[in-house]
Amino acid sequence: MEKNHMRYLGFLLGISAVLFVMAGCGISREYQEKQFLAMDTLISVALSGTEEDVQQIQTIINELENKVSTTNQSSELYQINHRTTDTVMVSDTVAQLLQEELEISETTNGALNPALYPISLAWGFTTENKRVPSEQELAELLPKTDWRQIQLSGNQLTLMNGMELDFGATAKGFASDLCAAYLKEQDVESALLDFGGNVYTIGDNKEGKKWRIGIRDPWDETAQNFAGVLEDTNEAVVTSGNYERYFEQDGIRYHHIMDGTTGMPAQSGLVSVTVISESGVKADGLSTALFVMGLEQGIEYWRQHGGFEVIFITENGEQYYTEGLIGRYEPSSEKKAEVIDR
Ligand code: AMP
Ligand code: MG
Repeated sequence: MEKNHMRYLGFLLGISAVLFVMAGCGISREYQEKQFLAMDTLISVALSGTEEDVQQIQTIINELENKVSTTNQSSELYQINHRTTDTVMVSDTVAQLLQEELEISETTNGALNPALYPISLAWGFTTENKRVPSEQELAELLPKTDWRQIQLSGNQLTLMNGMELDFGATAKGFASDLCAAYLKEQDVESALLDFGGNVYTIGDNKEGKKWRIGIRDPWDETAQNFAGVLEDTNEAVVTSGNYERYFEQDGIRYHHIMDGTTGMPAQSGLVSVTVISESGVKADGLSTALFVMGLEQGIEYWRQHGGFEVIFITENGEQYYTEGLIGRYEPSSEKKAEVIDR
């Protein structure tokens, strides 16, 4: 596990610790808790249910990962990216995830782009051979990333000109939706699913109070301190940050969220974006897209589309959060924290 993953693990354990301290010791329901590694991150599950429910959550996640991993040679996505014909038939799961991602690509004008995989690959973010590609290399790859050329009709997918897909920006959120749907079917009344910064809550915590989610302080390398705390129930809380995956070369930090217009890591003046929505896949996709778009365009997008809440943290430590979070989000920073109104 690489260094920043270790810090991340520390952060996750930190979050769990806080959540459980906050939850107190008055356990009124039988609680199952489990942590495991999947989807390139540490997954923490806490729920009022049976061991079988936890097992089923793990199965749902593993099955999804086996479909959408870009690196596992037996995954469906690997087969799609290494297809021998332009048109292939895909599973319902891949069709649905791609459809959801493309809808966000459309409304964000391509800030979220599932076809950026050749660029991420060139930067080595999936293979761990991280490097800075030359301008010429990026210029040659960019024409392969035109998401508008993706043709999806039912389960039939056509990708021309060697295009390759990646669901890194949405898969965890999508997984949280699948897990939440399963738990609701099982009448599980209380759950916290944490997919390494992608959180989904069901009902209230052990004490019958709203879950309290720590929003990571992007500058705290120990990942023990929070930029703020958010009360949450029955919603996804997803953060995209430039500290999650990066490398440094010649004193410059290169991170994993790409601007599809340049093929370079997005330089939007933000360090993190947290989106809160009933839909995990939407929260995940939008947190990535709004990161690329930056504060001004991000606020404009929220004003036009709504249906979610958002917390932006800028490079100079200022926070901007939407008015629907008043009373449920407490920013802890000494710096400016401003409310975004309609
Ligand atoms: P997230 O951590 O949810 O913000 O997603 C970042 C991951 O999504 C990266 O590791 C890439 O796999 C992929 N990715 C990077 N930039 C983009 C983008 N602009 N649109 C869609 N996927 C992206
Ligand atoms: Mg995302």
